[in-house]
Amino acid sequence: MYKAIFIDIDDTILDYIPCCREAFDAALAVIDPSTPNTDALFELFFSISGRLFSEAKHGLHTVAEVMELYPQEFCERAGYSPETVDPFKHAFRAAWGMTHTLVPGAKETLEALHAKGYRLFAASNSFGHLQRSRLEQAGVLHLFEDTYISMDISYDKPDVRFYEEALRRCDLMPQDVLMVGDSMTTDILGAQKAGLDAVFFDRRGEGIKDEEQEGLKVISSLPQLLTLL
Ligand SMILES: [Mg+2]
Repeated sequence: MYKAIFIDIDDTILDYIPCCREAFDAALAVIDPSTPNTDALFELFFSISGRLFSEAKHGLHTVAEVMELYPQEFCERAGYSPETVDPFKHAFRAAWGMTHTLVPGAKETLEALHAKGYRLFAASNSFGHLQRSRLEQAGVLHLFEDTYISMDISYDKPDVRFYEEALRRCDLMPQDVLMVGDSMTTDILGAQKAGLDAVFFDRRGEGIKDEEQEGLKVISSLPQLLTLL
């Protein structure tokens, strides 16, 4: 029934926390090579970036603004000088573009969907060149016909214009496309607003809190998607 599948990247195809930790450690090594244990600092960094991204989901910042804000707030709260912000930010992004830990079953699922003839498109809030580099490192970029990344599209998920622009680029109607992702706000509600069906990848067993979403299809592992199609 669907011709194409839009798939979120972070925490759907690539495992966000290990990728984030890897990039964080590389960036911290640039500004503070003598720090022996980075666990507490990573927790601080992760809580700051998590809060800012969550605020962005609700329209308080753009994703582009968050990319500037979290290195600033981290360096300030961790006691590093303002001069460390740019080196930290650049080192983090350079390392991030190389991170590619896959979510279990992601590669096999993408290969199976591709073999079944579905047109696959990545749909993510981030920098296009970094996300494509990560998918390439993970050995899955070739399975995607195109990548729709917020910084290239000029709108962030869940803005309906992100989905409208993505549909325009692949020349498909909303009913032709299924959106799959782990975020109820950006992936599911955003796609539904644009008229797409959606599947919620409940990676962390959060369940569905929104009563209006009672009939929503939910998967707890990516290969389960194959049984729904
Ligand atoms: Mg995600």
